[in-house]
Amino acid sequence: MLKKVLIANRGEIAVRIIRACKELNIKTVAIYSEADKDALHTKLADEAVCVGPAISSKSYLNIQNILEAACTTNCDSVHPGFGFLSESASFAKMCEESNLKFIGPSYNVIDLMGNKSNSKQLMKEAKVPVVPGSNGCIEDVKDAIKCAKEIGYPVLLKASSGGGGKGIRRVDFESEMENAFNLVKQEAKVSFNDDSIYMEKFIVNPRHVEVQVLADEFGNVVHLGERDCTVQRRNQKVLEESPSMILNEELRSKMGKAAIRAVKASNYTNAGTIEFLVDKDKNFYFMEMNTRIQVEHPVTEWVTGVDILKEQIRIASGEKLKFSQRDINIKGHSIECRINAENPDKNFRPCPGKISELNLPGGNGVRVDTAVYSGYTIPPVYDSMIAKIIVHGEDRAEAIAKMKRALEECVIEGIDTNIDFLFKILTNKKFIENDYDTSFIEKELK
Ligand code: ADP
Ligand code: ADP
Ligand code: MG
Repeated sequence: MLKKVLIANRGEIAVRIIRACKELNIKTVAIYSEADKDALHTKLADEAVCVGPAISSKSYLNIQNILEAACTTNCDSVHPGFGFLSESASFAKMCEESNLKFIGPSYNVIDLMGNKSNSKQLMKEAKVPVVPGSNGCIEDVKDAIKCAKEIGYPVLLKASSGGGGKGIRRVDFESEMENAFNLVKQEAKVSFNDDSIYMEKFIVNPRHVEVQVLADEFGNVVHLGERDCTVQRRNQKVLEESPSMILNEELRSKMGKAAIRAVKASNYTNAGTIEFLVDKDKNFYFMEMNTRIQVEHPVTEWVTGVDILKEQIRIASGEKLKFSQRDINIKGHSIECRINAENPDKNFRPCPGKISELNLPGGNGVRVDTAVYSGYTIPPVYDSMIAKIIVHGEDRAEAIAKMKRALEECVIEGIDTNIDFLFKILTNKKFIENDYDTSFIEKELK
């Protein structure tokens, strides 16, 4: 078993990783920026090392300083969490070169699957249905117009290295192409330092359904069922649940098998997620693979009873999976709400600042993953997600009821949050009746 893990992240996911390590009797080293010296993850870890100033390019993305911190504290491994360096193949490679086990897939697999355009090519070869689109990258506007003609409008231009809902633009007419192409290219360059872009057919009114997988280093692969992440704002997830109410056993098994083919074709190891879009006729299409732990992993943990973080660490320690597909049973229904420090009435403008009063919900069937505490000041420089509330009920109706009462209990004073907005989702008729798609928020909650 690994003995000492450096956690190359901050916020609730850093806390989540530290907790898993403690339960496994593994020592932890937190890293922090100058803006985070009072952050919870620095207090919960056995040791904490400052890696640079507030701006993430100089701290949480500072590979040199992070590796140095890991080596001077005698860590044997690094957990990247999500965001930041979690999908950086070069970071994973440099970890291995520094004799640090990277808790995730190997760097060449990150390189392959982390690039959305390349991974689609491989998936096609593995007979996984993919969203129709360009063969690889689009070089110029002429190429884009030609490709869109073949695919048929509307289309999406997407950054190959994109993430977090950024670097995606819809194009409805040829006349819009040149402008859209230049905009996406620029955004891709600025946000992801990679200006390669590709094209996809715009799937009309789809559901987002993703499959969680675990693969050990001996070729054993298991999927943990699906999560429905259809409730999105600007291509970013807002609320997630498991199981998905649009799947029957047959489709669940088909998508699970496709996900396992994807894993085997890419020689994937550790935890990963295969994201699919499902159209009105229940056709499903591979969209991308996330080669890391995901924000919404707790809903899967709750319906399967598998601790995905611990499994990540066990797999990285060279252990074999202790269960097979037959052992995985989905029990009840789980929902997660992302609590953001933002103001929905002011176009979801981020709202950092000091939390003057805090009362987090609890009780039967409620889990809260967060790194905030009463008196904590949320710095303005990082992501606005400050907590996740996760509930588990016997069925979806009970899970919705639990989430509503959990949101009602939740008191966060001093800053604006999206709690009331989340409550509106849970009381919306279309949501309750499972009659919605990715355009739900845009259509129903304007
Ligand atoms: P998930 O896929 O786990 O649901 P999100 O897409 O919401 O997660 O991303 C999780 C976090 O990681 C967010 O803070 C998001 O901004 C960040 N993130 C995701 N992908 C990238 C990327 N390619 N580059 C930079 N940040 C990213
Ligand atoms: P990210 O890496 O930012 O998560 P994704 O490629 O996973 O980007 O897409 C994010 C979201 O954008 C999806 O969950 C979906 O709602 C929407 N989307 C992406 N591709 C398509 C498509 N081809 N048709 C319709 N919606 C799409
Ligand atoms: Mg995605």
